[in-house]
Amino acid sequence: ASAMVLSPENALFNKYEIGKLLGCGAFAKVYHARNIATGQSVAVKVINKSRLSNNANLMANIKREISIMSRLSHPHIVRLFEVLATKRKIYFILEFVKGGELFTKVAKGRFSEDLGRKYFQQLISAVSYCHIRGVYHRDLKPENLLLDESGDLKVSDFGLSALTDQVRADGLLHTLCGTPAYVAPEILAKKGYDGAKIDVWSCGVVLFVLTAGYLPFNDPNLMNMYKKIYKGEFRCPKWMSPDLKRFLTRLLDTNPETRITIDEMKRDPWFRKGYREIKSRE
Ligand code: ADP
Ligand code: MG
Repeated sequence: ASAMVLSPENALFNKYEIGKLLGCGAFAKVYHARNIATGQSVAVKVINKSRLSNNANLMANIKREISIMSRLSHPHIVRLFEVLATKRKIYFILEFVKGGELFTKVAKGRFSEDLGRKYFQQLISAVSYCHIRGVYHRDLKPENLLLDESGDLKVSDFGLSALTDQVRADGLLHTLCGTPAYVAPEILAKKGYDGAKIDVWSCGVVLFVLTAGYLPFNDPNLMNMYKKIYKGEFRCPKWMSPDLKRFLTRLLDTNPETRITIDEMKRDPWFRKGYREIKSRE
């Protein structure tokens, strides 16, 4: 099957009652919704695909991505329940995550190293689970880290970035918004890159933000920010423990070949404290 199965517009509205807008992303709108039959809260992510509905090859790729994503099942990954597609739109029916974005919380003040470690371990557990299955996030950033009711982290958009790229490649997305602050240097160098290694870099930027309270690479001038990322120019605040400083230096290594891997993280003295491999629900 090379084309996505299309369902009529009313397939969505017969099953879900659409509520308020939760957020706007670069290429999608996310709404709260309720499954009418079960009462379950969900999030509906709507992507406009009107301009690419004729591209059978692209639709086949999207379909493949979706089948991978819907098989991901992990306590720290936002679950994809189902996908509905009409001629003009794709609707992703996602697990509703109640607690908002992790970065709203860190904006109120940096975390202790213990709390930073807790979130970072949950993030790495999710990332590790996906990498083993050949799925790379490639767009790990604050907006994609959500908190649930019990204060645990949930990564959203796993597997979606490849899809987003396709949408971009097809010329649908003219405005590429968002900050480059989380982008790995090898992407800036346009050398071609390894999905696993760029995810590790972005995780490093996230960990820095959680524990320092500000971005490691920042500049009001975008070109200067790029330069800092490219050179790996950052400084850890003096209050940080030597173990954390060392760990961050291994994550934010500009050379992807020598950058720490997830396997190596699991042996790192700062990281491994209290870490246990989280079993998936498979
Ligand atoms: P994009 O990928 O286009 O950037 P996102 O998936 O990041 O869009 O969604 C944009 C915003 O919508 C998020 O920052 C978040 O606030 C909200 N959101 C996304 N997914 C969910 C969800 N599953 N539950 C609750 N809110 C969500
Ligand atoms: Mg997103």
